[in-house]
Amino acid sequence: MSPATLKPVRDVVLAEPRGFCAGVDRAIEIVERALQKFGAPIYVRHEIVHNTHVVQNLKGRGAIFIEELSEVPPGATLVFSAHGVSKAVQDEAEARGFRIFDATCPLVTKVHVEVAKLHKEGYEFIMIGHKGHPEVEGTMGQLADGIYLVEDVDDVHKVQPRQTDRLAVVTQTTLSVDDAAEISAAVQARFPQVRRPKQQDICYATQNRQDAVKILSPQVDILVVVGSPTSSNSNRLAELANRLGTEAYMVDSPADVKSSWFDGKTRVGLTAGASAPEVLVQAVIQRLRALGAISVRKMDGITETIKFPLPKGLKLDEPAPPA
Ligand code: SF4
Repeated sequence: MSPATLKPVRDVVLAEPRGFCAGVDRAIEIVERALQKFGAPIYVRHEIVHNTHVVQNLKGRGAIFIEELSEVPPGATLVFSAHGVSKAVQDEAEARGFRIFDATCPLVTKVHVEVAKLHKEGYEFIMIGHKGHPEVEGTMGQLADGIYLVEDVDDVHKVQPRQTDRLAVVTQTTLSVDDAAEISAAVQARFPQVRRPKQQDICYATQNRQDAVKILSPQVDILVVVGSPTSSNSNRLAELANRLGTEAYMVDSPADVKSSWFDGKTRVGLTAGASAPEVLVQAVIQRLRALGAISVRKMDGITETIKFPLPKGLKLDEPAPPA
């Protein structure tokens, strides 16, 4: 492509809020502090958050990412990822005698706690989520049975709970807010007595990033979403913009940005999923400047102030939990 056709990129508008959420911040800090306090290697079950850059960075500092607990030597320090784990994984990790730090986002833990509480009261569950996502596996794995996954409205028509007197809905935290509302409404239509959470389980960060894209999309010709392909909430941002009629692309790094996307486009929106670091957003801005962007401004948006406390035993002056 000739430089002349690269010129059209003029203005970049940054979504507010975008990027790291409190759960991701906390999860990464847990691995960093564990490395600092106990030294490498620190084992992490699954990618701590779904971002290639974050995972590579922590790998370079001594984190070892595993999927099976049999890969972790006895006595090692193990961190559960932000997505949470099933009871079976938790029990196996304890039985194997690891020093465990749980980086499950407190908003995912809240769903686990709700499932356990209602299960004791005799409830079965319909979970709205994406099959195979580790958060869904962790939440469904809080129970041996009685929790049924639905991915769309079609699934709602097919699902067969064993009983419907005590039935509750739970959702993955990073879904499309609109899709989840539609699926949840279909559940309610089929099972009118179903118990739905007072507020959806979809987390504040997912909601806020999607709200920002809803405002930003009509103002731009194209939206670039910084996020890894495995990141559920990043995928939802690109999907949402596309639905609103704005061409959208996900990029894992500036190298993924293709100049051809911007042919004839002057206004570029830029956002980032909850697991994508700001350093990548800044690198993408540099790439857009190289493609002709001359102004970069932030849209008006809310400022997030949520912060989650770290688990005990990670500060240098705190006693470490036993392995
Ligand atoms: S996206 Fe939401 S649920 Fe996931 S880590 Fe962030 S705050 Fe927690």
